[in-house]
Amino acid sequence: MIQVFQPNISLKDKISVLKSLSMNQISGTSPVVKEFEEKIAKDFDRKFGIAVSSGSSALDVALSVLDLKEGDEVILPSFTIISCLAAVIRSEATPIFCDVDNKTWNMNVDDVKTRITTKTRAIIMVHTYGLTSPAKDILDICKAKNIILIEDAAEAHGQIVDSQRCGSFGQISTLSFYANKHITTGEGGMVLTNDINIYNKSLRIRNLDFGKPRFIHKNLFWNYRMSSIQAALGISQLKDLNKTINKKIAQGTFYLELLKDYQHYLDLPLKNNGDVKNNFWVFGLVLKFENSRDQIIEDLLKKGIETRPFFWPLHLQPALPKKFVNNNTYPVSEWLGRNGLYLPIGSHINKNTQKLIVKTLIDSIEKSQKDA
Ligand SMILES: *Cc1c(COP(=O)(O)O)cnc(C)c1O
Repeated sequence: MIQVFQPNISLKDKISVLKSLSMNQISGTSPVVKEFEEKIAKDFDRKFGIAVSSGSSALDVALSVLDLKEGDEVILPSFTIISCLAAVIRSEATPIFCDVDNKTWNMNVDDVKTRITTKTRAIIMVHTYGLTSPAKDILDICKAKNIILIEDAAEAHGQIVDSQRCGSFGQISTLSFYANKHITTGEGGMVLTNDINIYNKSLRIRNLDFGKPRFIHKNLFWNYRMSSIQAALGISQLKDLNKTINKKIAQGTFYLELLKDYQHYLDLPLKNNGDVKNNFWVFGLVLKFENSRDQIIEDLLKKGIETRPFFWPLHLQPALPKKFVNNNTYPVSEWLGRNGLYLPIGSHINKNTQKLIVKTLIDSIEKSQKDA
């Protein structure tokens, strides 16, 4: 089976973890976690990093910090991961969806503008699949309207937009280090900020509201700590970030080359969007025939190739509480959700694998069109 992704754990990574183990540094409160936070903060041009147990918990911390109330509105793309929606709903605020751009699959700034009301407290800006949302434009809107910017850079480690690093735009930015991200700790995440108050509050939210005196707690917070074993892996992984990205760009570029004559069947990702280089966190594509995607995914799986469908739009999720359901449509998010899929990418495959994947994909598309 050719897996859709596989983490790349080097010998150096293993030594780093062993070192942490042999020093008995395993918990969330050892200096190894602190070191990882400082290294990530520095590389992402931030003052503070707060390591947490996942990208989803980083989003939970980000939304909790804001102390939102019922009736407050948070704008987020419909085309993104459920973690963003879950964090908004747990904060008691109202999720307000916006649509994404049909070429970059990232947030459409004109649509964001139409969603702003006097109740908008925050915007979650997500960078998706290797390109970015228009970060400077969204930041400018937030500044002009006194809206808090939360930036989810889980898929954009090392990415640069508007001459600035992804992860450095938000008053609070978040990262994930899940196994399929550019830098992994197995499971893990990070909250990034320049604001000392947000930093201090995030530390308490991460750790059960332990403070001083030690066993007096004002809030019922959860345990979102990252262990040192994970942090040790992250410290080592961070050193290879550029290598990881360059490899993905090379593979993404090769896929584009192999697929360029098949654009009557599918929409391909942009190699660049203005100055933003696609880092191909995943290699996505969108089929031009409705109702064929799931069949093609199944067909490829039978031939030993694992792929993934795109995100399913958040406004259509069964988990969306009824009081937030309305008749708004988000045509691009829905189109991507129905027809998008992504192909295997990463150091577990080579050019020959890519050729085989593309040939099998095209055969499968042509077969589905004959059957249709
Ligand atoms: C992966 C991801 C997350 C969630 O991260 P986990 O570590 O899996 O909880 C959040 N947002 C985006 C955009 C992601 O891609």
